[in-house]
Amino acid sequence: VETKPTAGRHFLQIPGPTNVPDRVLRAMDNPTMDHRGPEFGRFGKALLEKARTVFRTASHVVIYPASGTGAWEAALANTLSPGDRVLMCETGWFATLWREMAERLTLRPEFLAGDWRRGADPAQIETRLREDKERAIKAVCVVHNETSTGATSRIDEVRKAIDAAGHPALLLVDTISSLGSIDYRHDEWGVDVTVAGSQKGLMLPPGLSFNAVSAKALKASEDAKLPRSFWDWRAMLAANETGYFPYTPATNLLYGLDAAVDMLAEAGLDNVFARHDRHAEATRRAVRAWGLEIQCEEPRHYSSSLTAVRVPEGHSADALRATILERHNMSLGNGLGPLKDRVFRIGHLGDFGDLQLVGTLGGVEMGLRAAGVPHKPGGVQAAMEYLAGNA
Ligand code: PLP
Repeated sequence: VETKPTAGRHFLQIPGPTNVPDRVLRAMDNPTMDHRGPEFGRFGKALLEKARTVFRTASHVVIYPASGTGAWEAALANTLSPGDRVLMCETGWFATLWREMAERLTLRPEFLAGDWRRGADPAQIETRLREDKERAIKAVCVVHNETSTGATSRIDEVRKAIDAAGHPALLLVDTISSLGSIDYRHDEWGVDVTVAGSQKGLMLPPGLSFNAVSAKALKASEDAKLPRSFWDWRAMLAANETGYFPYTPATNLLYGLDAAVDMLAEAGLDNVFARHDRHAEATRRAVRAWGLEIQCEEPRHYSSSLTAVRVPEGHSADALRATILERHNMSLGNGLGPLKDRVFRIGHLGDFGDLQLVGTLGGVEMGLRAAGVPHKPGGVQAAMEYLAGNA
C-alpha cells in the first residue's frame, strides 16, 4: 500500500531553481562539442549576441560557468578598488549576503537600512548621494527582486535618484530572480552592471551566471584594482570576440540557454512579464482570501516572480512546508535569515502556467488545513476566478 503520493510530478515551486521546459532539456541532451573547434565559435558568437535581448542591452553580456554568487563577485571585482565605498540597500537576505561579500573583498559598503517588507527607497539613495560631496561612493548596488521577501525595487526610480543627485557612481543591479520574469531594461535604465543567473526566469538548471556590462563599467574596469582572475572581463571579452571562452564553458548549459532565449523571444518578453504579473496577482488574491499576510507591504513593490507569505504568530512555516512536501509532493521556499520559520515562499516564475498555479495553490490550501494553520478556505477559488476573468 502506497502511503506517500509518490506518483505524479513533483511540484518544484521554490522561487528558483525553476521547472526546466522540455525544449530546454532536449537542447541540452546533445553531444558536448569541442569548445575550441570551429562549430563552437559560430555557436558562441551567435549566442552571446542573442543573449543581449533578454537584458535589453546592446552592450556586452559575459557568461560564467558559475552560480549567481560568482556574477555578484565579478560585478564588484571588475569595477572597484580596495577600500572603495559602495552604497547598498537592505532589502532582505540576498542584499545582506552581497554586502557581506563586498566587505570580504575589502570594499567599504554602507548599508541603507530597510525593514525587509519593501524594495529600496530611491529618496534615501538620493539623500545619501547628495551628502557625498567628495564623491567617495563609487557604486550603488541594488537587488532588483529580493527573493527572500518578494519585493521588487524600482530600478527606473533608482536611476532617476542617482541622476537627480548628479552623482557619478556606477549602478550595479542583481536581477537573479527577475531577469526574464519582471520588466527590466539594462540600457534604458542606465545600469552599469546587471548580475543574473540561469536557474530562475531563464528556465535553465543552475550553473550559468551573467554580467551585462555598460561602456561606463568597462571604462571603470580599466582602473579597478581589486584582484581578479577567473572573473576578469578582459580575458573573457577578448575570447568572446570570436565566440570562444578563456576557459572551458558549460557547453551543454549554453545549448539550453540558446533554446531558452529563443523561447522568450518567440513568446515576446512583454507577454512573459504580463504572464508573471497575472500569476502573482492571482496568488495574492489567494493569500488574502486565506486571511494570511503578504510579507511585502508596499503594493508598488509586489514581486511578480514570487510571493512570501507570513504564517500567524505561534505557527511554523517550516512545519507547514514539511507537511506539504510529505502529503502533496511539493517544494516551497523557506524563510531566510530572520524570516526563518516565519514565512513560506511560493515561486510563480519561469516555465509556469495557470493549471500549475492552481495546483500549487491547492497544495498550499490543503497543507494549511492539514498543518492546522488558521486560515479561511477559498484561496484557490479566488485565484481561479481572477484567472478565468483575466485570460
Ligand atoms: N541574488 C538573488 C536575488 C538570489 O535570489 C540568489 C539566489 O537565490 C542569489 C543572489 C545567489 O545566487 P546563487 O545561489 O545562484 O549563487
